[in-house]
Amino acid sequence: MREITHDPMMLTEPGADAADSWRERDLKVLWHPCTQMREHPHTLPLLPIASGRGEWLIGQDGRRYLDAISSWWTNLFGHAEPRIAQAIATQALTLEHVILAGCSHPPAVELAERLLAIAPRQPDRAPLSKVFYADNGSAGVEVALKMAFHWFRNRGVEGRTKFIALENGYHGETLGALAVGDIPLYRRIYAPLLAESIFAPSPDAYACEAGETPAERARHAAQALRDLLERHADEVCALILEPRVQCAGGMRMHDPLYLKLARELCDQHGVFLIADEIAVGFGRTGTMFASEQAGVMPDLLCLSKGLTGGALPLAAVLTTQSIYDGFLDDSRERAFLHSHSYTGNPLACAAALASLSIFDDDKVIERNRATSQRMAALASEFVDHPQVADVRQAGMIVAFELTRGGDKRTPFDPAARIGLRAYRAALERGVLLRPLGDTLYWMPPYCIDDDALNLLAATTRAAIDHAVQEAAACA
Ligand SMILES: *Cc1c(COP(=O)(O)O)cnc(C)c1O
Repeated sequence: MREITHDPMMLTEPGADAADSWRERDLKVLWHPCTQMREHPHTLPLLPIASGRGEWLIGQDGRRYLDAISSWWTNLFGHAEPRIAQAIATQALTLEHVILAGCSHPPAVELAERLLAIAPRQPDRAPLSKVFYADNGSAGVEVALKMAFHWFRNRGVEGRTKFIALENGYHGETLGALAVGDIPLYRRIYAPLLAESIFAPSPDAYACEAGETPAERARHAAQALRDLLERHADEVCALILEPRVQCAGGMRMHDPLYLKLARELCDQHGVFLIADEIAVGFGRTGTMFASEQAGVMPDLLCLSKGLTGGALPLAAVLTTQSIYDGFLDDSRERAFLHSHSYTGNPLACAAALASLSIFDDDKVIERNRATSQRMAALASEFVDHPQVADVRQAGMIVAFELTRGGDKRTPFDPAARIGLRAYRAALERGVLLRPLGDTLYWMPPYCIDDDALNLLAATTRAAIDHAVQEAAACA
């Protein structure tokens, strides 16, 4: 037991020593994702977490931190959600895992049934009717890319070896996924290892020219896509895109019209449409799936992140009967031999089933409508902020573009590290934000209450102001 002293820091942070000790042990042995490890511990504070409850993370220092980014966009209903935890525990005592080649188990079957029942539909198309599992988002993207390519091979088409992807898109970190990604920070160094892709302009509404509406922007981007398809269709097997929001690309949002036009163009050129809804699926943009907002059904739909409510890694690729049928043959080589040891893991499938039940039981999509209106009201107070060039929202995602002010479109010097400064300032105030460059965003668990939303808005403002002042003082 610690002695009670009169040091006020000790009284407010009884676990400061525990946190320090975990930091030290961590940095001796761990190599963290998406991190320049040299920035620990000085530039970037490492935050040791003891537990989670609802939208809150509880630090080893005893303080609460609001998880404003849903732990990398995975968490839907809050941390340690009892119904999901119970489903995992029950499943663990029944069957923790079994090989899915040659074997079957109820959670994998039931989850596939339920995903197909809620998947996006289009009146003129046969619905998505088959599910292939993988164990993380990038692996799911690999599955979709390989399936699209292999389907053409099985038809004797040899020339369709490329993918069209969108500029500023992101599809994961494995080499196949990086090859269709366009974020230089992740891609550039590995470029010599990557298959060649064709990149089409993004319909990003933030990039609208003066006087151009987001719908016009979508039309122009679709025209550019048409030109590329006219030139390259016989080399291309699929178009891959993130419907509605390019999340890792800075929460850039586009008009759903783009998706509708892209679907038509893919059909005209006999190219598959792969919708990567790994981040935007499961209600993030206001509808269960973002594709619904355009009334579009993709040929391959990639899901992960929120699929298990954020509890366990799992990915699912949903596809059509006609793609599935393209692999039926006497030859093993024509089969889709892709596999991961933990394909369709029963614990992860049980968590996903519990998560889908919560959507029904708690009327989540409906309730989120009120929450996203509240987020809109709070976000609207930032519109006049001198350093906020753009406030945008898609359902449960709100993003703020920080720029130098004056001419609102002049970005900060990257060396000013505005995002990092805002991150630290927010953390000190008990909110975990993790800006993407100079884009600050809110993507909270759906259970976030009004008090927490108010705290989030107040802290965001304080963090922006602090970051701007600190950067000015250093310049
Ligand atoms: C996160 C993400 C991925 C990769 O998923 P991981 O599970 O991190 O491999 C792929 N596509 C999109 C759109 C994502 O946001």
